[in-house]
Amino acid sequence: MTQTVKAPATKETVKGFDCLHFIDGKFVPSKNGKVFDNINPATEEVIGTVAEGGAAEIDLAVAAAKRALNGPWKKMNANERVAILRRIADLIIERKDEMSILESLDTGKPTWLSGSIDVPRAAYNFQFFADYIRTLTAESTQHDDIAINYAVRRPVGVVALINPWNLPLLLMTWKLAPALAAGNTVVMKPAELTPMTATVLAEICRDAGMPDGVVNLVHGFGPDSAGAALVEHPDVNAISFTGETTTGKIIMKSAANSLKRLSYELGGKNPNLIFADADLDEVIETTLKSSFINQGEVCLCGSRIYVERPAYEKFLEKFVAKTKELVVGDPFDAKTKVGALISEEHYDRVTSYIKLAKEEGGTIVTGGKRPEGFDKGYFLEPTIITGLDRKCRVVNEEIFGPVVTVIPFDTEEEVLDQVNDTHYGLSASVWTNDLRRAHRVAGSIEAGIVWVNTWFLRDLRTPFGGMKQSGVGREGGVHSFEFYSELTNICIKL
Ligand code: NAD
Repeated sequence: MTQTVKAPATKETVKGFDCLHFIDGKFVPSKNGKVFDNINPATEEVIGTVAEGGAAEIDLAVAAAKRALNGPWKKMNANERVAILRRIADLIIERKDEMSILESLDTGKPTWLSGSIDVPRAAYNFQFFADYIRTLTAESTQHDDIAINYAVRRPVGVVALINPWNLPLLLMTWKLAPALAAGNTVVMKPAELTPMTATVLAEICRDAGMPDGVVNLVHGFGPDSAGAALVEHPDVNAISFTGETTTGKIIMKSAANSLKRLSYELGGKNPNLIFADADLDEVIETTLKSSFINQGEVCLCGSRIYVERPAYEKFLEKFVAKTKELVVGDPFDAKTKVGALISEEHYDRVTSYIKLAKEEGGTIVTGGKRPEGFDKGYFLEPTIITGLDRKCRVVNEEIFGPVVTVIPFDTEEEVLDQVNDTHYGLSASVWTNDLRRAHRVAGSIEAGIVWVNTWFLRDLRTPFGGMKQSGVGREGGVHSFEFYSELTNICIKL
């Protein structure tokens, strides 16, 4: 059975794309035949079905992954592994139009975005970790008159890769590439709302020559479903999870029973700190992206915008004017800047915060409602709210949609106090041309990633992750590799 979409890929040819599990090198339905509908959030149409996995499919997938740890995969040398990882990257690029369409149909994001960020970055994740292991040298050897010590690096074992729906392919490959580079075998559990590109990815791994059982995929939900069965499974050695902080807490409890290794990328409520000396046009251009790209459904989006009082009025006026120009609508239209939110449930959740903002005394300066002309699809106008402060839930809780608050501040101390007054600590963006202040403020923000005069500028070698309840551990370059591998120190007495 195959999952290939007929070429040329158009939004029509992917209709009826039914996603199956991929277990031990084969696409298979659920044992009990259960499926659920896959809905396009921009049209509310059913675009296919998804096999609904549970404990039975997870058992099969984990058993296959465990067997594969000692199969041909283990015997491959680094060059052979590199060749497969590079082939995966090449196949992603070959199928980029199809993958970009599938990603947009699943998520509601514009195709120019999936085609320019999600899919190319997915290929780059494999190229990056292929290069990484090609140049990896042995651990340092120490010797003196007493003993020689050396450390060997080996895979952790079977790794569960669990992902959210906002950047499905980008985030899955960000886990899969280093997990495979380090020699592990995996079971992927994509978000139930976005199953399609993970399915094609499994097919690509097969076509790239990956031995059976190394890469497995089980579709399904989280609680009492495939997700829970995966994190509870005693033969899973590590879990790499990206998703909500509340889900992370539940998974940590399940994983405690068998003391699994955990990597967590969780929620955020990220601040932008804009000082009056910053270049306002540059600030506005980037703030539009950090607020509304991907419908604001990026964990790194800056949803709390603090502006130094002398620049506040000017900033707000320009920011509102530019926000009003953003075209909301059909993800397949090149003019569209903001697509559809992921689901009806999420639309209701995001709009409930807009209602709450009014109850908390805020002013909706622009947006706040479904754009005119749409009776189908979960579209929401980009929304700017003022008049709220740190006591408000809207300022404290992650909304994960195209909704930002703008708050003036007077001093550096005051804004830092507000910015750090949260249990999140994922990222922040600081805007100033004062070099000393840039360093001082960046070093004082409690977040895993701080950008200065930019946002979302990523170098995959650098540590990525959150402080406080935004995450546990770091991904990126050596940090990913540390998570996905074990070290054994061997000591030989002389
Ligand atoms: P979610 O936590 O609801 O779901 C994420 C994944 O976990 C899904 O695959 C889901 O099926 C699974 N899951 C849910 N309950 C589970 C359980 N009990 N056991 C095992 N698996 C379970 O998150 P979401 O709504 O899909 O995604 C949005 C969240 O993800 C936001 O909070 C966002 O900030 C966060 N996120 C963080 C990063 C980061 O890098 N820090 C990146 C993207 C998204």
